[in-house]
Amino acid sequence: MISAAAITRVAEREADRFRYVNPRAFAHHAAAKGWFQSVPFHWMRDWPSPVPIVAASAKDATLASIDGQTYDDFCLGDTASLFGHSPPALAAALAKQASEGLSYMLPTERGAELSQRLAAMFALPQWQVTTTASEANRAVVRWCRGISGRNKILTFNGAYHGAVDDAFVDLKGGVPTMRASLVGQVHDLRGTTAVIEFNDEAALANALRGGDIACVLAEPVMTNVGMVRDAPGFLQTLRRLCTETGTLLVFDETHTISSGYGGHGVTHGLAPDLMVVGKSIGGGVPCAIYGFSADVAERMADLYTSRPPGHSGIGTTLSANALAITAMDAMLIEVITPAAYDLMLRGSARLVTGLEQEIATANLDWHVTQVGARVEFLTCPTPPLSGGEAKAAMHPELEAAIHLFLANRGILLAPFHNMMLVSPVTGDDQIDRLVGAFADCVRALKE
Ligand code: PMP
Repeated sequence: MISAAAITRVAEREADRFRYVNPRAFAHHAAAKGWFQSVPFHWMRDWPSPVPIVAASAKDATLASIDGQTYDDFCLGDTASLFGHSPPALAAALAKQASEGLSYMLPTERGAELSQRLAAMFALPQWQVTTTASEANRAVVRWCRGISGRNKILTFNGAYHGAVDDAFVDLKGGVPTMRASLVGQVHDLRGTTAVIEFNDEAALANALRGGDIACVLAEPVMTNVGMVRDAPGFLQTLRRLCTETGTLLVFDETHTISSGYGGHGVTHGLAPDLMVVGKSIGGGVPCAIYGFSADVAERMADLYTSRPPGHSGIGTTLSANALAITAMDAMLIEVITPAAYDLMLRGSARLVTGLEQEIATANLDWHVTQVGARVEFLTCPTPPLSGGEAKAAMHPELEAAIHLFLANRGILLAPFHNMMLVSPVTGDDQIDRLVGAFADCVRALKE
């Protein structure tokens, strides 16, 4: 067991060390007062360090700070750079596009082939582009409600689908509750969002039975509340019950694209009606996509042509701009390949083995979960089966102390839970350094 006193001792020592090693980061934050909270985006305050590290540049799976530190980057922009920072093919394509115009509000020739590539990779025939995964999820929810004529959607307790109002309902003591942290929330979402625990087949059957749910919006493996794996057969049951009740099944594969080539659905032979992929699809260039079946496309076309003219409530000016199309095309042709996945899966297997060995050596009741190239150590003995269980198992102070310890040893983890991403350009040496620093951290916590 690790005591609260040990966590505080490590956290304080590491905060001191961070201050000593990163003077320029502090000077930068003192100078950046024009930003709210001294950062251009308030999430950047969520890192466990006294101030955020200030990035200078990043290449492959290595990030450099303005304080001259280099980091083995297992955060990878929280998945935006899952395939490595600035892959050469992407950088070259972007440089060319940069001098040919960036945003025209017109399709480009390159887009035709890209649409076919997406269809082939993700096994859905029709696609649309947005600027973020949040926006893609919002679009999908709107389309699903529109074509089904049903008001409600269903999500899983603890899910995260980006800045999507409809998905901000949790279960508290079994009761649907709006997330207390939401800013400026004026609409009560509980009338139009049903929420149940992941892996709860009985609750799912019950919720869908009424035939009033437009869609189930789900990550096929939950990745934003720690990782919660699907119990054997759960996703097949989800697919079957959706079909039986005329409910559309949406997989948000923004994170689970880590599972394998084509994402989790393709890798495991599941067939959602719609899917969303964000972030990494453009290698970090802001863009996201949503795809849908031929049947859904037909229903969308009927709705689109029969409604009165005017704004659909879907889309923004920058959607599918030339830069985004170019970025995705370059990524799909040269970077997001089956060969890249082979490397990612090999690297993540090495990471899992290393972490499991260190956990066993330290005799800790922790475990490691994996969704392809996405690996997480959880500081609880058994894998949680639901968002509720995962939330109960979280230990924010312990996580923060571990993250800061690792950052001070040149290893970057995403600030949210203990998620580590292995890119195709992550070296074995980087993985071994992470495992070694993790072992040192555990020893320090047990002193
Ligand atoms: N869906 C999932 C599953 C996510 O994890 C995230 C972001 N972490 C999003 C959607 C939203 O992505 P973005 O912030 O790029 O809109």
